[in-house]
Amino acid sequence: MRHALSRKVLAAVFAVSAGGCAHLLPGAASPEGGSRGRPGTGWLAHGSRLPDRGPGFEALRTEAEGGLHFGTDRLVGMVRRVARAMNRDGVPVPLKVGDLSALLGGQVTRHHSHRNGRDVDLIFFTRDAAADRPVVAPGFVRYDRNGDSVGAPTPLRFDLARNWRLVETVLQAPDVAVIRVFCAAWIKTLLLDHARRSGAAPWLVERAELVLAQPGDSAPHDDHFHVRIACTPGERVLGCSDGGPLWPWLDKDWDKSDAAPMDDETLVSLMDEIPPGFEHGPPVVAEASAKPAPAMCASVSDELVCR
Ligand SMILES: [Zn+2]
Repeated sequence: MRHALSRKVLAAVFAVSAGGCAHLLPGAASPEGGSRGRPGTGWLAHGSRLPDRGPGFEALRTEAEGGLHFGTDRLVGMVRRVARAMNRDGVPVPLKVGDLSALLGGQVTRHHSHRNGRDVDLIFFTRDAAADRPVVAPGFVRYDRNGDSVGAPTPLRFDLARNWRLVETVLQAPDVAVIRVFCAAWIKTLLLDHARRSGAAPWLVERAELVLAQPGDSAPHDDHFHVRIACTPGERVLGCSDGGPLWPWLDKDWDKSDAAPMDDETLVSLMDEIPPGFEHGPPVVAEASAKPAPAMCASVSDELVCR
């Protein structure tokens, strides 16, 4: 089966070569790692690890607490850069980062996607409602269409300015192609209204209008952003499937770092890196996973945990 898979991949590569586009063959399928399959059924080869904390960010759950900290190099790099950028405003409130993927990707509890290293949850920035000052998000806090917390022990307000800046920063993150920022429709409305009122660049507002989206197949995401980046061209050759629209502006956003061609040996060694249990390709996913059961978005301890 492994040989069959190798042949299939090689055939795909040769097909591209035969078309005279060998220079487009990507090096993203390099031993550094990459995303394989779909966000809801795939896995992760040679993932990078996001530490429990770093400049401008803190994991919502440390690895010891069961947090999922692995992603592709690009995803982990994006989280670090975005956190550093947010940190520059001098507000001593870190970005709380939720789950990425497991070490080898694959199925995880709490999520239907997050399987191939290209998804990350970013917890909304928040403010103490009474004191009207930024505070560290205590976890998954839901917000209504006025931006007021729902059910939080201490009333909180959705931090419009910082959350919009986070969206702006994510949308402009270099070397990644952000294809989706999932959040509830009313959160999107709050953010876009704020952006227009505060004179944000029209092209950014336009992008945000397209990229921000309430997922149609899971909870509305009124307590965090779920950011998904695209496959690299190299990952696509190896069967990575984006799981979202490839926006027209993404092409020019790609760095030229993926230009190194792969040879057969590299491809075969990549095949050898398929983790145990995945030798026959991504595991078959039960029908229920395609349409998340309501139980997948539930209170665990004192947090609302969703996809
Ligand atoms: Zn998520």
